[in-house]
Amino acid sequence: MSDFAQTVKQQVDIVKVIEGYIRLRKAGAANYTGLCPFHKEKSPSFSVHAVRQFYHCFGCGVSGDVFSFVGKIENVTFPEAVRIVAQKSGIPLPKREFSSPEQAAEARQRIKLLELHEAAAGWFEEQLHGPEGAMAREYLAGRGLDARGVREFRIGYAPDSFKALRDRLSGMADEAMLRASGLFSAKEQGDGTPGPIYDRFRKRIMFPIRNESGRVIAFTARTLETGDKAGAKYINSPETPLYTKGQVLFNLDKAKAAIRQAEFALLVEGQMDCISVFLRGIQNVIATSGTAFTEQQVAILKRHTSNVVVNFDPDAAGANAAEKSIALLTEEGFNLKLVTLDGGLDPDRYIRERGVEAYMNAIRGARRQADYLIERARQMFPGASAEQKVKAMNYLLPHIRRMPEKLARDQFAADAAQKLGIDSTVLREELRQAALKRRDRVEVRPTALTEVERVLLRALAITDPEFEESRRAAAEAISRQHPWFEGLTSFPALQALASRGAMDPMDAVKDETQRALLAEALLGETDPPSAETVLGSIVSLQQRQMEGQVRLLRVQIAEAEHRGDFGELALLTRRKLELDRALRSLSVA
Ligand SMILES: [Zn+2]
Repeated sequence: MSDFAQTVKQQVDIVKVIEGYIRLRKAGAANYTGLCPFHKEKSPSFSVHAVRQFYHCFGCGVSGDVFSFVGKIENVTFPEAVRIVAQKSGIPLPKREFSSPEQAAEARQRIKLLELHEAAAGWFEEQLHGPEGAMAREYLAGRGLDARGVREFRIGYAPDSFKALRDRLSGMADEAMLRASGLFSAKEQGDGTPGPIYDRFRKRIMFPIRNESGRVIAFTARTLETGDKAGAKYINSPETPLYTKGQVLFNLDKAKAAIRQAEFALLVEGQMDCISVFLRGIQNVIATSGTAFTEQQVAILKRHTSNVVVNFDPDAAGANAAEKSIALLTEEGFNLKLVTLDGGLDPDRYIRERGVEAYMNAIRGARRQADYLIERARQMFPGASAEQKVKAMNYLLPHIRRMPEKLARDQFAADAAQKLGIDSTVLREELRQAALKRRDRVEVRPTALTEVERVLLRALAITDPEFEESRRAAAEAISRQHPWFEGLTSFPALQALASRGAMDPMDAVKDETQRALLAEALLGETDPPSAETVLGSIVSLQQRQMEGQVRLLRVQIAEAEHRGDFGELALLTRRKLELDRALRSLSVA
C-alpha cells in the first residue's frame, strides 16, 4: 500500500464511509450492522468493525478494509478507490507524479486522444441530424431506434467524405496525434512511409464504444453503402493507446448498476442486440461485440457478478462463440445459463417482434449450461449408434471436468448418461471419473470456527501492547507446534498472523476465504483473550486431538485382540497408556 493510501486509511472512519452507501445500526461496543449491498438479503448479516476498521458479511463472506468496500461497490480499481475515499473525506490528493518522462507523455497522449474521440462523437451526432444523415436516420428508424435511443447511445453518422472529420479535428492536435487516434487511415507510399491521412469512416453509421467510465474510446461503424463499393458491413477502430480489442465489454458503463441489482449479467453478441434490449428496459445487458469472450473480459465481468445468462445468435457462429464463452466462464467459476430464442431470432429482432414480456420469459426460462450442452451434443451427434454416443460423450467430458463444484459435475455426468441413453458400464465409468476429478482443488467455504480457533485468531490479531503476552503465547505455540494446528480450517490464517510482525492483521491474511474467517472471529469480540485463556485453549485443542487418538487406539486394540495378534496388542496398549498419562498431566496443568 502506498504511503498516501496508508495516510488516508488512518484518517478516515470506515463506518462513516460505508454509511454513505447503506444504513448501519449500532449493534455492540464496536460493531455496526446493516443489509449487505453485495447480496440480496432481508435481515442484516453485514457488519462493520469500528475499532479494527473492516467490514464482513456473514451471508456472502465478503470482507475487507475501506478501500476494498469502495472498490467493490463502485466497481473501481484500488488506486481509484483510494482517490474516492480521500475525496469523500476531504483529504487533498497528492499531485500526480510520473516516474518517467515517457509515462508523463503517455498520460498526456491518452488525455488528448480522449478529447479527440469526444469531439468526433459529437461531430458524428451532428452529422446524423444534418441533411446528409437522412439515409442513416431512415435506417435507424427501420431498426426500431427512436430519437431517445439514438441520443442515449450517441449514435452518429460519418458522411461520405475523405476529409470532413480531418478538417474538423486538425485544429485540435498535431498530425502524429491524429494518426495515433485510429480515426484516420493513410496509404503507404512508394518509399514505405505513410502517406497523408484521410477519414477512416465514410458513409457509415457510428456507434461509440465507451470504457467503464463512459468515455468514448473507439467506434464501430456500419456501412450504408450497398453493392461492390460497400466493403465490410461493420468495421471497428483499430487498436490504439485507448482501445484494445477484447478488453472492453460493450455497454458495461451503463449496465453495471443494473447488473449488481439483478445479480446477473445478460450477455449478447452484437452491439445492436445490446442497445435494443437495453432501451426496452432490460438494463443489465452487455455485449462481447461479435466474438467469443476473452480472458480479460471475463476478469472484468467477474468484478461485477458471477452469474451470467448467455443469449448468443442461434447460427453456427453464435453457437461456437457461445461454447467458447461457456468454457471460459465455467473455468472461472461463473454460474451460467443459456437462452435459445425460438424462431431462430437474434435478441434484437425477438424483442421487437415479440415484445419485452416474451423476451423476459425467455430469459427466465434459460437452461442450465449442462442441459444446453447435452442438447447440443445430441444435435451434433444424433442417432443411437455406439459410435455417436462416444462422440457425444467426448464432446461433453471436457465441459464436465471444467466445472468447479463436485456436486454439479456429478449431476452433469448423471444427466448426460441418462439423456444420451448411455448404458455401457465402461462409458458410465468414464463419466464418473470425469466428475470425480477437476484440475484445481475445490475451494474451502468459510465454515463456523471452533472456539479454540476463535481465541487464537483474536489473540494473534492483538495490536494493543497491554495484551502482548497473549499474542506472543499464541504466536509461539503456532510457530513451534504446527501438527496440532494443521487440521484447523483457519490454519493458513493462523500461520500468516503468527508471523505478521507489525503488519495490520487484516492485511496480513491474503487469502480471501481465510480473511473472512478472521473477520468472523474478530466481530463481536469483547476484550482480547488473556494469556491464560490462550494457553487453556491450546491445551484443550491438544486434549481433543489426543482423545481422538485414544479412540482410534481402542478400536485397533479390539481388532488386535480379535485377531489374536498379541505382539501388536502389547504395542498398542503401551501407546494408549502413554497417551492416557499425557492426557492426565494436561488436565492437571
Ligand atoms: Zn453479503
